[in-house]
Amino acid sequence: MAGGKNDIKKAVKTVTPGGVGLDSQAVRARMVRKLAAQGLSDARVLAAMGLVERHRFVDTALANQAYEDTSLPIGLGQTISKPNVVARMLELLRGGALEANGKLGRVLEIGTGCGYQAAVLSHLATEVYSMERLRSLHDKARENLRTLRLPNVHLLFGDGMAGFPKGAPYAAIIAAAGGQAIPPAWIEQLAPGGRLVAPIQTAGGAQALVVLDKTMQGVRQTVLEAVHFVPLKSGTS
Ligand code: SAH
Repeated sequence: MAGGKNDIKKAVKTVTPGGVGLDSQAVRARMVRKLAAQGLSDARVLAAMGLVERHRFVDTALANQAYEDTSLPIGLGQTISKPNVVARMLELLRGGALEANGKLGRVLEIGTGCGYQAAVLSHLATEVYSMERLRSLHDKARENLRTLRLPNVHLLFGDGMAGFPKGAPYAAIIAAAGGQAIPPAWIEQLAPGGRLVAPIQTAGGAQALVVLDKTMQGVRQTVLEAVHFVPLKSGTS
């Protein structure tokens, strides 16, 4: 998209303060500028990051850190990813197939957590199906998202290892938790031409970001930089 900087400014200006006041817009705009300085360049992703009030997704005690480039605890040993990593993964997703309106089509997110990334995705995709295996986080995300009224976000409680066949095929799949390999169900539920972005375990217990493209010729997998995500676990709790 042309005129990235102006697009971001515009997006930030249109944020409804919702009682938080202009301060939070200003810190969010600063966060977006920092992301841009770090090399993130997709104007739509940056604009979406500028729209979503990250401080609403973390405990009040952590709200003052909400716009720093750091992951934060969200309870039960889970974390909300760093803004940089969220933006990076969404940029990678948008490197796959897009609809005519420039949005991603139906997206499956594994690991709703507090619902932050689902909220950002709601601005970039036609539909967002987001699965969480921990009931209390699923409930927390529902609570966090309630006031935002995002009709295209569908929160699902369940084990995301099996994906969500009812919503398939997906134009994109994004995981916020890393396992030893990409679960076969995700690849099955990805549309031809679709793209999946997920952390997976590499040698020595480290993790790397993987981009998987499903093409007519088969599956193409690209391993990118090292990342640190919580483990992908099976079952619900
Ligand atoms: N995108 C989230 C990040 C949450 S951390 C946010 O913006 O807050 C990753 C989440 O993945 C955790 O909440 C964890 O419980 C969840 N998770 C791990 N394995 C899962 C699985 N098999 N199915 C669904 N969720 C899973």
